[in-house]
Amino acid sequence: MTNDVVVIGGGVSGLAGALALARARRSVLVVDAGEPRNAPAAHTHGYLTRDGIPPRELLKIGRLEVRGYGAQVVDGTVTAVKRLPDGRFRVALADGTEHEARRVLVATGLDDVLPDVPGLSERWGRDVVHCPYCFGWDLRDQPLGVLATGPRAVEVALMWRQWSPDIVLFQHTQPPVDDKRLEARGITVVAGEVVSIEVTNDRLSGVRLRSGEVIARRAIVVEPQFEPRRSLVDGDDTSGIWFAGNADDVKAGLMQSAALGVTAAVAINADLTEEDTALALQR
Ligand SMILES: Cc1cc2nc3c(=O)[nH]c(=O)nc-3n(C[C@H](O)[C@H](O)[C@H](O)COP(=O)(O)OP(=O)(O)OC[C@H]3O[C@@H](n4cnc5c(N)ncnc54)[C@H](O)[C@@H]3O)c2cc1C
Repeated sequence: MTNDVVVIGGGVSGLAGALALARARRSVLVVDAGEPRNAPAAHTHGYLTRDGIPPRELLKIGRLEVRGYGAQVVDGTVTAVKRLPDGRFRVALADGTEHEARRVLVATGLDDVLPDVPGLSERWGRDVVHCPYCFGWDLRDQPLGVLATGPRAVEVALMWRQWSPDIVLFQHTQPPVDDKRLEARGITVVAGEVVSIEVTNDRLSGVRLRSGEVIARRAIVVEPQFEPRRSLVDGDDTSGIWFAGNADDVKAGLMQSAALGVTAAVAINADLTEEDTALALQR
């Protein structure tokens, strides 16, 4: 059987898209590898009516809602998407199964590539963080560090100042920072490369500089490189393929990602309706 839509990825964007499509009476298969981007965090914040819920719990509820309208959600990893001569798609999974679809919604999220500092990745999503709207409230008034990794470091430090009066900007391997806005907002700049993260009793307690000096901090802000997971369908011809969530917009939080999923679903349904009408005319 050919599905109307295969959704690759069952995070909030894929599931929100699948919900809209299933309610539009489309046959939908969601294939999900089960590793949402925010999984390292204990809680989800800012998702209206579900603030504070653990990330996987949110998706568990989402799967139930989607299945309630007849959509299938399976655990698995899509390894290839092939366009068939008649315009449909064949989607291959790592377990060897294949599924056909008239349209594909790619909601695979993104990879956060962290700076190469020992200890950072182990604390990611706990006390090494990037998003003030996700973590800022819980870290309010704490001694925080911002690790400079690129030209946005000053803006990031100024932004986090909204959540804490004690911000240190670590120059790390970046050129010296000279910006009077930092002093005006009481933000200290510390020169020297950060060589490791200090952890005490399973809590980040500071950062160690190459000089050996340790500067006490409760959490570190980093800006990862965002790499959208689009390689499955990279190529010139993306007709019939839609993107949603972080695969479409790296800046999208959970609410925005869910909205992007719905927006894509509405466009897919309109596209299928047009095709259904053209086929009916031909008959
Ligand atoms: C540590 C951390 C904490 C965060 N906390 C918050 C927060 O509190 N509030 C907030 O608004 N935002 C938060 N975010 C951002 C939030 O995680 C993203 O906005 C959201 O996850 C994007 O949803 P998505 O559906 O696009 O992708 P994801 O949630 O990443 O879901 C993508 C899904 O696709 C699956 N997948 C990928 N490739 C394949 C494949 N080939 N085959 C099958 N399945 C595949 C993945 O396993 C995953 O389950 C946080 C981000 C991080 C890094």
